[in-house]
Amino acid sequence: MIKNNRYSKRVCVFFLVLIAGQIGASLAVHGESPADAVPRVAVDRETLCGIGRGRRCDIDLAIERGLFETGLRPQFPEGLECRGIDEAWAISYTHKRDRENYHGGIDMPAPFGTPIIAAAAGMVIAKFSGERSYRGIEVILRHTPEDTGLPFWIYTQYAHFDEMPDVQIGQRVRRGEILGPTGNSGIAPSRRRSGRERRPAIHFAVWFSTSPHYYVGARKVIPLKGQWMDPNALYRKSTMFDSRSLEALPEAEKQVAIPVMLEDGTILPAESKLVWPYRCAR
Ligand SMILES: [Zn+2]
Repeated sequence: MIKNNRYSKRVCVFFLVLIAGQIGASLAVHGESPADAVPRVAVDRETLCGIGRGRRCDIDLAIERGLFETGLRPQFPEGLECRGIDEAWAISYTHKRDRENYHGGIDMPAPFGTPIIAAAAGMVIAKFSGERSYRGIEVILRHTPEDTGLPFWIYTQYAHFDEMPDVQIGQRVRRGEILGPTGNSGIAPSRRRSGRERRPAIHFAVWFSTSPHYYVGARKVIPLKGQWMDPNALYRKSTMFDSRSLEALPEAEKQVAIPVMLEDGTILPAESKLVWPYRCAR
């Protein structure tokens, strides 16, 4: 009797593993799109809301995933002209939206046409034309741990392009490779009130995850187990990315020395796998 019980348990476990394997295999989207993409059903609700911030989502889910101010500031190499931030990480955007929300990235203004470059080597996982989005024309890259030297899967988002970048889904890009020209695409909420157009700028955002899998929706990418990252933290040469720990750093450690690419392609420091998404001029 005991023997039989053990046997049936083993059979049960065997079938459970088999079924789980089948579900896992069927969740992966194969073919032309990168194999690590998964359908929406594979993403838990907390992640969908915490990263996607849909209309029915509680903003606290995004805050729990790190969407709050940390106080980090970029410090560029001396003697170079680099493009700094005019709208900081996680500042309140509640006045710009019709509900509570926070800036999910950093903005750097730059003249129309200024090349936006890849912050690290990576793969193009999504392109959005963004007619109905605040972010306009947008590209998202995913970086393996080897691409960045960091023990996470990193996702970088580049938005407000002037025209759709000429890169394909699944294509690998090099560190510092030009993705496309700066523009001001995307719905400009201030225009209705002030009559002003959006200034040309990049919106640059970063997520990190222990999972290589992600879901590509109609207008956004959701990394499985994704967390928000203050984009300045990507350049800290530290693997501590959670906003709570970054916020607790002493003030002196909140100045982040930013590795950059110059217009002639030189990288400072040369060994850096990461660069600011705009090149600097001498
Ligand atoms: Zn922005």
